[in-house]
Amino acid sequence: MFLTNGVIRTMDPALPTTASLVLAGPLVAGGVGTHESALPTPDRVDLRGRCVLPAFADAHVHFPTWALAQNDVRLDGAASLAEALDRVRRHTTGGTWIRGTGWRDASWEPKPTKDALDEITGSTPTALWAKDYHSLWLNSAALALAGGELQVAGGVVERDATGEPTGILREESAWRFRERFVQIAESEWVDATRVGIRLANSRGVASVHDKDGWLGAASIFGRIHEREGLTMRVFQSLPADRVTALAELGLRAGMGDDFLRLGYLKCFMDGTLGSQTAWMLDGSGVRITSGDDLAEIIRAGAAAGWPISVHAIGDAANRAALDAFEATRDLWQPLGLRHRIEHCQCLAPEDIPRFAELGIACSVQFAHAPSDRDLADRFWGEKAAGAYAFRSLWDSGAVVANGSDAPVEELDPLAGIRAGVFRTINERDAWHPDETLTVEQALIASTVNPAWLAGDERRRGSLVPGHLADLVVLNRDPVTASAEDLSEIEVVATMVGGRWVHNPPPWD
Ligand SMILES: [Zn+2]
Repeated sequence: MFLTNGVIRTMDPALPTTASLVLAGPLVAGGVGTHESALPTPDRVDLRGRCVLPAFADAHVHFPTWALAQNDVRLDGAASLAEALDRVRRHTTGGTWIRGTGWRDASWEPKPTKDALDEITGSTPTALWAKDYHSLWLNSAALALAGGELQVAGGVVERDATGEPTGILREESAWRFRERFVQIAESEWVDATRVGIRLANSRGVASVHDKDGWLGAASIFGRIHEREGLTMRVFQSLPADRVTALAELGLRAGMGDDFLRLGYLKCFMDGTLGSQTAWMLDGSGVRITSGDDLAEIIRAGAAAGWPISVHAIGDAANRAALDAFEATRDLWQPLGLRHRIEHCQCLAPEDIPRFAELGIACSVQFAHAPSDRDLADRFWGEKAAGAYAFRSLWDSGAVVANGSDAPVEELDPLAGIRAGVFRTINERDAWHPDETLTVEQALIASTVNPAWLAGDERRRGSLVPGHLADLVVLNRDPVTASAEDLSEIEVVATMVGGRWVHNPPPWD
């Protein structure tokens, strides 16, 4: 197949743009310059000036959870408890559970409680995730299912003055509840994920680093892979606390194929900004894993070749994670393991250069900066100057990869790229504009760098001969677009492994 007459950004510094691209089966065969009018027409796709990029990768997404949440009560942007309750009331469908996602109660007064929920949900168990997925709001019927089993290490069961649970669970307590008590049939997961993959393809996504790190996530993708084949490549995380069991089963990093591959182990140092559970150097927040415990995880993982992905939001959490990687570097550096810290949200300035020095990648989410700015300014004050410091990290030489963290933010790479470049939404001034990235940098963080992080830099991430033909066609070139035009750019079509998976040509 020949793609001709376009602006093809290869993301290869040796040949950054070309007008045409030759594909052979699932692979890129080469660029052919601008004079190929003699090519046979059946295999020829006239781009008519459109732009082609390597397809987008999402370096941090809770994919099945995001896919399933498409059917849930959406509480994003609810300005008050009353508004949230109203949405729950309107959604109620008479199923065995009411599920929802997206609430953020920092400015709500009164706060969410089980009592408020009971009035409209009655005896139907109800579980509503906060926007950051680190807090869960339950009604009495849901709490009653769990009995006394929710007070676990690293978790919080909020209680009122009389000691009665309020209905809010945080961190490990919330996740324990979901794992044990929110029953979702595997077929429901598989069906939602199948639909979600089509939606992701339509947004130019050809690969994800999945963070739904529970063991079931891999089997959801596995089912689709077996039955009809995946049209999106999945680099799967697995829970770090299962490292021994994984070793006993003989499972190692890198097992799988080009579409579904075991990637890395994930664990958490702390909570989040929105739930005020980020572990901070001032002593506030929730510490989920100590630096010493992380060092143990790194050692155990290295024995089976696993890179580690550590969630760290607060400045103390990031420092403890960096310290643990530094303390174990003699073990993992010779193995070439590509460890990563997820979010890197609040950093003490002196810790910023340590990512590049140690070779720890920054798996960040550009879209979080504009949507978290008010909370960050409010909870972190002065420290917010070292928060979401994407440009400082980039300039320090660190590998910066972008993800959506969907369903926390929408799974939409073009929106993420704009957030990295503009650091604002809704026509406000940019937030810490010295931390904005160029369009090229934001694109590299959404294509080349996630491929490197997956160990795939010789197979994907740029459009050079021998790479998989994963590409996206855009209606115009983001690099030369004006700021206004950048906001209007759309995905025209997506190809994965040489096959069109969204809107095959011809196009009008
Ligand atoms: Zn996440």
